[in-house]
Amino acid sequence: MSTVKNKIVIVTGASRGIGAAIAQSLAQAGAKVIVNYAGSRASAEEVVNNIVAAGGQAKAVQADVSKPADVDRLFDEAIAAYGRVDVLVNNAGIMIVKPLSETTDEDFTRQFDINVRGTFNTMRAAATRLADNGTIINFSTSVNRPMLPGYATYAATKSAVEQLTRVFAKEVGKRNINVNSVSPGPTNTELFTNGKSDKVIGRLAALSAFNRIGEPSDIAPVVTFLASDEAKWISAQNIGLNGAMA
Ligand code: NDP
Repeated sequence: MSTVKNKIVIVTGASRGIGAAIAQSLAQAGAKVIVNYAGSRASAEEVVNNIVAAGGQAKAVQADVSKPADVDRLFDEAIAAYGRVDVLVNNAGIMIVKPLSETTDEDFTRQFDINVRGTFNTMRAAATRLADNGTIINFSTSVNRPMLPGYATYAATKSAVEQLTRVFAKEVGKRNINVNSVSPGPTNTELFTNGKSDKVIGRLAALSAFNRIGEPSDIAPVVTFLASDEAKWISAQNIGLNGAMA
């Protein structure tokens, strides 16, 4: 059984999609969850209400992870609410799919600011503010491998996240903190489905062995396991959650 009971967890970007499923999975397993969001307050409150209605504990906290002051406040509010932070799930992210030649300076900066700087900001804060024996789970992507046109900048941000993960795992191991990343394949959320035809979704589904895209419920239990005591010996790893996408 995965032991996350009474762990205090921050899940960034938990107002919808994969992050919302992770918050619910962790809360169901007994963790106390900070449901972070950037702008979707109503959705975040709904996630919290669902958790509380099911007998769990959660609190919504707004913070833009690309801003260091917001991240400090996120930790402040989590610690004020529950006393400490044991687990950080760096799920917040955005994806802008465009050929590199059409990618604007703003597209590039926005993706790096949220995906890379956001992960950097929360890990830098976690270096001193995550409790001893803590756990960090970062988000990469399985599109790093198949070299799909349009995904160059997004994949570059996630490759950077994987590298931050590996080196940071060595830096915080002395406090018995383990750090991993997960790489979902195409997963049924707004981030993935926005602007895609059924035909394009079908083509991407065919890249998996099961001829379907993933659901947030395929990802969340694995993250809950990685947050558990039993997964402590896993560190500096990137775990594909993609139904054998290749
Ligand atoms: P969604 O677009 O469904 O949800 C994104 C979440 O991130 C929202 O809760 C959003 O909050 C939050 N967010 C966005 N920007 C910020 C910010 N600056 N600060 C704090 N929170 C922010 O995305 P998914 O659930 O699909 O993606 C979750 C993670 O999984 C991402 O890192 C993504 O790159 C990764 N991933 C997703 C895949 C997929 O196919 N879906 C595949 C591989 C990886 P708000 O609503 O308030 O804006």
